[in-house]
Parts: sequence; C-alpha cells; structure tokens
Amino acid sequence: MSQIPVAKPVLDEREVEAVRRVILSGWVTQGPEVAAFEEEFADFVGAAHACAVSNCTTALHLALMAVGVTAGDEVITVSHSFIATANAIRYCGAVPVFVDIEREGFNIDPDLIESAITPRTKAIICVHQLGMPCDLRRVVEIASRRSIPVIEDAACATGSEIFWKGRWEKIGKPHGDIACFSFHPRKVVTTGDGGMLTTANPEYDRKFRLWRQHSMSVNDTVRHGSRQVIYESYPEVGYNYRMTDLQAAVGREQLKRLPEIVARRRELAEMYRRSFDAASGIGLPIEPSWARSNWQSFCVELPNGWDQRAIMQALLDRGISTRRGIMNSHLEQAYAGTGSHRVATGMQNSLRAQDRTIILPLFVQMTDVEVSQVASALQSAPVYLEPATV
Ligand SMILES: *Cc1c(COP(=O)(O)O)cnc(C)c1O
Repeated sequence: MSQIPVAKPVLDEREVEAVRRVILSGWVTQGPEVAAFEEEFADFVGAAHACAVSNCTTALHLALMAVGVTAGDEVITVSHSFIATANAIRYCGAVPVFVDIEREGFNIDPDLIESAITPRTKAIICVHQLGMPCDLRRVVEIASRRSIPVIEDAACATGSEIFWKGRWEKIGKPHGDIACFSFHPRKVVTTGDGGMLTTANPEYDRKFRLWRQHSMSVNDTVRHGSRQVIYESYPEVGYNYRMTDLQAAVGREQLKRLPEIVARRRELAEMYRRSFDAASGIGLPIEPSWARSNWQSFCVELPNGWDQRAIMQALLDRGISTRRGIMNSHLEQAYAGTGSHRVATGMQNSLRAQDRTIILPLFVQMTDVEVSQVASALQSAPVYLEPATV
C-alpha cells in the first residue's frame, strides 16, 4: 500500500545545482547568496528590508529585541501555536500573555487583546496560523491606538495574501512592524532550516544585521574584500543567527517556484473542500473574504464524538499520515512554572482546536486521486473503529 505523507518539500536538481555552485565558489556561509536572497524576498513580499537568519525562532527573538522587549515585560500572543512563538518571548526574560483564538479558524481573537493589555505590555505577536492570515486590520488598529508594536509570526505564511486598503498584498510587507518567516521543511518553501525578518523600519533592519552576526562592527564579507587591514569591534552581546550561503542558494530557487507552489496548494485545498460531504459533519477550514491562504496545512474539525487519536490511527493503518491540531503552549511542562506565562482569557477555542482537529496531507506532488482517497478514508473512518472509541 502506498503511503501518503502529511507534507513533502518540493526539491529537485535545481536546488542541487544551486548548492553545487555555492560549494565550488568557496564561500559557504552568510555572503553574496544571502544578500541576493534577501533582496529577492523583499521584492516578492513588497518589503523595504529583508534580513535572513538561521530560523524563524531566532527571527522572533531578534524582532522582540528590536522593539525593546526586555526582562519582566509582557507580550500578548496565543498559546495555540507552535511552542517557538512563546519560547522566543521567554528568551527575552519576558512573560507571554496568552489570549484565546477565534471560534472560526485558528488565529488570535482581536476582541480579546484589549483586555489583556497592561502597562507592562511591550509587544503583540500575532500568528498567521497554518498560513491563514489573521485579522491584521483589527490587530493593527488596536495596537496602534495603544502604541504597541505588532510582530507577525508568519512562519507558515510565505506566499499568503491579505486584502489591505483596497488591494491584495503579500504577508510580510509587513502590515505590522516586523514579520518573521520560517523555511523549515514543514513550511511552504524550505532552505532545510532558515528564517527571514521583514520590516519597513531601517533601524530595526540595522539591528537585526548587527545581532545576527555577534554584533560584529564589520561583517566578514567586508573584511574579506577589503584592501586595508580592518579591526572589528563588538559593541554589545550578539548572537550567531546567520543563514548560510548554501541555504540561501536553495531559498532563491524555492522563491522562483513559490507562485506555482501556492497555486497548486490552493487547488488541492479546493479539491478537499469539494470532496467532503456536508452531511459528514466534518468542519472545513474557513478562508475569510479578505484572506488568501497558501494552505500550509489543511486542518479539519472532527464531528462530535469522534476520537481524535483513534481516527488518526485508523487513517495511518490505511497508509494516510495526519497530525493532531496545533498544540497549546501553556499546557506543556515548559510552561508549568509560576511566572512562566499568564493566561489572560478563557481558552476554550484553543483547547477545542487542539483536541478536535486534525491536519490532512497536502503537498504539491499530491495527486487529485490521493485527495479523494484521504477525504473518503476520513469520512468512513469511524466504520473501522471499535464502537467504544468512536
Ligand atoms: C514553524 C513555526 C515556528 C518556528 O519556525 P523555525 O523556523 O522552525 O524556528 C514558529 N512559529 C510558528 C507558528 C511555526 O509554525
């Protein structure tokens, strides 16, 4: 029986050739390829500045530092996200303040933000969960009225779009102050691991560039190319959050494919939508009229009474890989300590999403037939279970 994985990156000889070129050039870490990838990425999303880093978690860390988050500050975000969102806040010694997600969808409920704000609130991180843009217009409106910077966790949202002041724009322009992207293989395009920060603020961009390379006053490429001896200095503590030129070369090839990748993913999502019988009771993801998802993941809600784990096992037994819905960080042991976080609202939608949803396979190479196989296997899954587990 053929296996249907939950995700699969799109990589071939084009990426191999790109890496080969870099290896033979003799310059393999952050250098000309990173610079070119940044320029192309900035162009693609329509941002003034793009700065490449080692992954999205380090991007979030630098974004929080840039807007001035330090020990004891509070940052409002969702618990219902990959744990890196909340962890980045804790790297700063700050406290994640969790609010619930909306009833429909998996993004922050803007109505809950205002009540979570305190004099210590220094930033809001909103997540474009699973590639679906969050309600940025309302998040940004509240944040600017209260003078709080907005950082977009756009880890999953490369290629997603939002209708903004009368036209479609790419996530990452950015519409908040800073947007952070991931190029992990589970995302829509990949560099193995990798991340990107976009911003309109040149001062933030300058800080990202300094901090990602140990806060070294002169970067390696400049020193390498100089005809004069240069002594560098280290005015503050920085990090090694660099992307390598090997990764950037792959990223440049991935970026060229991105429009095709998003188009195919949107086609597959539409096919899923048509394959489910309304009578099945399976809840399909909702795309608001002002959002165009890249469908990084297609996450469905199981009908009442269906056991998540048993259904996932029944599908796996039939060669279909799925994942449970997104986790809730505040339930993990890493968040058990007092002072590690604050839960500012009810969490019923976040809990329901974790326990009642599953992520279905969706990848560019997936065939139309595989989509209908998955849909029919899921709709008939309870038939395969013992009555007690349904
Ligand atoms: C994947 C992911 C991250 C972390 O990205 P890395 O590049 O793996 O560090 C952060 N936030 C969200 C919402 C993610 O899905």
